[in-house]
Amino acid sequence: MNRKLALYGLVALFAVAWGHSASAAEKLRMLIIDGQNNHNWREMTPPMKAALEATGRFTVDVATTPNNKAPKGAWDSFQPEFTKYDVVLSNYNGQRWPDRVEKALEEYVSNGGGLAIIHAANNAFAGWSEYDKMIGLGWRDNKYGERVTVDGDGKVVRTPKGEGPGAGHGPQHAFKVVIRDAEHPITKGMPHEWMHAKDELYQGQRGPAEHMHILATAFAAKEMKGTGTNEPMVWVIPYGKGRVFTTVMGHVGGKGDPSIRCVGFQTLVARGAEWAATGKVTIPIPDNLPTADKVSLAPSDAK
Ligand code: ZN
Repeated sequence: MNRKLALYGLVALFAVAWGHSASAAEKLRMLIIDGQNNHNWREMTPPMKAALEATGRFTVDVATTPNNKAPKGAWDSFQPEFTKYDVVLSNYNGQRWPDRVEKALEEYVSNGGGLAIIHAANNAFAGWSEYDKMIGLGWRDNKYGERVTVDGDGKVVRTPKGEGPGAGHGPQHAFKVVIRDAEHPITKGMPHEWMHAKDELYQGQRGPAEHMHILATAFAAKEMKGTGTNEPMVWVIPYGKGRVFTTVMGHVGGKGDPSIRCVGFQTLVARGAEWAATGKVTIPIPDNLPTADKVSLAPSDAK
């Protein structure tokens, strides 16, 4: 009898343990959107998808839009079911979507959905005012909206519409990413500075920048045709009940461009997407994050 009871106890204990690990292992559903971009989206989506799936936290579907020469009717079948997903990641910079799809994204995010914006996805959709609110800052000219930078004392500086530079970048180079909020779930535990692999350093981004919270910046050096100040690299914005994560890093023009292989970039995107989906972060910061002086790349065959 005692042995039997002990056995029941053991089974119950295992059931609790299994139950717990099953819920911790519950995967978040992500939808990546691509199909048009002034970047090599075909070389970007598969490795980003693989890196996200490798965290064990996501299952990832991809929705590819018609190309920009497709007849108008080709868009009829582009109906991503945003509400089936915990987070949508945009690797898209192209034509405006049909009105019903744009409205569906607005509703999805304002009802609590997560959105992650990578690099040129913030170039897209000028004139879509709700999208501008979600991304905060986009690749626009200086008349489009405010500019937001961080000064030498760490203070956020807003430059009015029409003053100062509009969107641009100098030649690609490796640059230091500086964490500006060490307590935010996405960046908590990251070293204060780490060296990002060769990338474009976006500057002079413009937009409404309402409720924008900057998590990381990079110094746009004048000798690299930069603005001579700290430009936002990563930020978050609430939109209704939803959360939007943006990073302007991640340029891929040709095969083998290293930016998206940077372990720091991959970690930020995974943690940013998890946070956008749930408001919390459980994905750990890997041991091989770049240091302040040394780039760290994930293996190129990790596709
Ligand atoms: Zn680019």
